[in-house]
Amino acid sequence: MSRPPAARLGLMGGTFNPVHLGHLRAAEEIAEHFRLDQVVFMPAAQPPHKGRDELASFADRLAMLTLAVADQSAFAVSDLEGRLPSPSYTVNSLKAAAAELDPETRLFFLVGYDSFRTVAHWRDHLELFKTASFMVFRRPGVRGSRAALGQLLEEALGRPVRWSEESESYAAEGFEPIHYYRGGRLEISSTDLRKRLTAGLSVRYLVPNPVVEYIAEHGLYARQKKWRR
Ligand code: ATP
Ligand code: MG
Repeated sequence: MSRPPAARLGLMGGTFNPVHLGHLRAAEEIAEHFRLDQVVFMPAAQPPHKGRDELASFADRLAMLTLAVADQSAFAVSDLEGRLPSPSYTVNSLKAAAAELDPETRLFFLVGYDSFRTVAHWRDHLELFKTASFMVFRRPGVRGSRAALGQLLEEALGRPVRWSEESESYAAEGFEPIHYYRGGRLEISSTDLRKRLTAGLSVRYLVPNPVVEYIAEHGLYARQKKWRR
């Protein structure tokens, strides 16, 4: 009897401050395109590159994500980074995630081009490329191309990379394949959402409705909160 194919799991890290339809749509397209069985969203507890200013609590960001994925059975949320020592370095999170998975499961790390551009400065970045197969996707408004990704990878890995049209990924000796996806079409950012909320403007239709309601109920990102500090 043949064994069922190993599960393909995508992990998407981010601050999700707050989660928006740009995140969800990118994950949906990538899962469809690369036949992922599940995408797990993993909010950072205290991102190393971001200050605490305007950062909703980990519990609030986790709650908003949970509401956002409730109607998509292929999506889930992980509190892993909340359980790891702060700040959460991607390499630690990926290793911890991999350790919790069935060894047969293939792990993919989903990351937008804007975040990935700085990968050479991430802690133990070479180790990262051995732990999971990256899936790098375009983000509207951010310059990037397959060729530019190849160049970036050669600099970050210090060795030549080879594009395969069939697997839509770059291969580099000693590392997991690095996939590239051109989609990710919604030009929405959490920064813009926070600005809108602080100014008392609507974020409806940029964020799932239950998240709109959660933000209102909890008074997140509201101007009054800033004044009270
Ligand atoms: P901020 O403005 O606070 O940085 P953000 O909108 O960039 O928020 P993040 O939580 O920083 O959201 O992003 C998490 C991941 O999702 C990153 O890999 C990022 O590239 C990707 N991403 C964010 N917004 C979009 C979008 N509109 N389309 C595609 N990918 C996105
Ligand atoms: Mg960002």
